[in-house]
Amino acid sequence: METEVFWKAVTTNDARFDGTFYLGVKTTGIYCRPSCRARLPKRENIDFFPTWEAAEKSGLRACLRCKPKEKGETDPQVAKVLRVCELIESDEMYSLEGLADAVGQSPYHLQRSFKEIIGVSPKKYAEAKRMDKFKEGLRAGSDVTAAIYDSGFGSSSRLYEKAAENLGMTPAAYKKGGEGIEINYTITDCELGRILVARTIKGLCNVAFADDDAALEENLKREFPKAEIVKDASVLKHFVDEIVKHIAGKKKRLDLPLDIQATAFQMRVWELLRKIPYGETVSYSQIAEMLGDKKKVRAVARACASNRVAVVIPCHRVVGSDGKLTGYRWGVERKERLLAAERRSKEAKKQEPSNV
Ligand SMILES: [Zn+2]
Repeated sequence: METEVFWKAVTTNDARFDGTFYLGVKTTGIYCRPSCRARLPKRENIDFFPTWEAAEKSGLRACLRCKPKEKGETDPQVAKVLRVCELIESDEMYSLEGLADAVGQSPYHLQRSFKEIIGVSPKKYAEAKRMDKFKEGLRAGSDVTAAIYDSGFGSSSRLYEKAAENLGMTPAAYKKGGEGIEINYTITDCELGRILVARTIKGLCNVAFADDDAALEENLKREFPKAEIVKDASVLKHFVDEIVKHIAGKKKRLDLPLDIQATAFQMRVWELLRKIPYGETVSYSQIAEMLGDKKKVRAVARACASNRVAVVIPCHRVVGSDGKLTGYRWGVERKERLLAAERRSKEAKKQEPSNV
């Protein structure tokens, strides 16, 4: 079942989907057609059903407002487009021609109606599905190469372009120097001294530590000389809360959107860094090895050193082969304290009873 597509149809009361699926609302025990104008239920309270019979079978009652049983035939074009979604999902590699063939339409007609109903082209839809799979692969801990092939990407350089786009990085979104963008920032206290957190409308663009605010502000201006830089704590509250908690060892996972410029190589390194588990370290040469080229150790070290978002991209978890901490852009003492806090927090968790 195409739950994202269905959910979008529900949020837009799209009557073209009436008859193609039904939504059941767990909290009320009612099921509706997609176009029902009753109050929009929360996403997590909804189940989708292919037929009203299936909805009733699971104990739901028909909505009195939209009378889901009374709807006659379904829109044949919507049915075809949903069939195409299924084919794309099915892991087979289909061309547009192949998809059009499967539902008995011309590629041109399918392309147009698919975009009209789903909102993106079949190609974009397929790419998004592959990216979902890739992300699942990463979360499940399969290694990067396997994740690439599992998700059906032919070449890894294309994958990383997509990864950048989809993992919240938008490297081409603004010109060098931040021309034409507004950056909001704030400076506050954390366990490692003063911390600056800065964002564009899309995500974090700078997280840095220093002992005094002037140095942090100067550095931000140096990084984005052409941007319009405005101090505004209110739009950064969520980001700051998460990051400060993370540094204090009270929140292990940081999953914040990024808006950073990077070369393809930096992107690959930074993506790997984000996979290093909390409280663990790897060496520069291990990263180089994971990237498929042992000789790139120095390039890896440079990519780590050019990280502009401290902690969010955890370059502090990369150490020398002998375990020495080597360098850190924001001072090796901070690196040491970060890693020590992570180890403590990890140990503390271990000692808790496992059935909590
Ligand atoms: Zn209803």
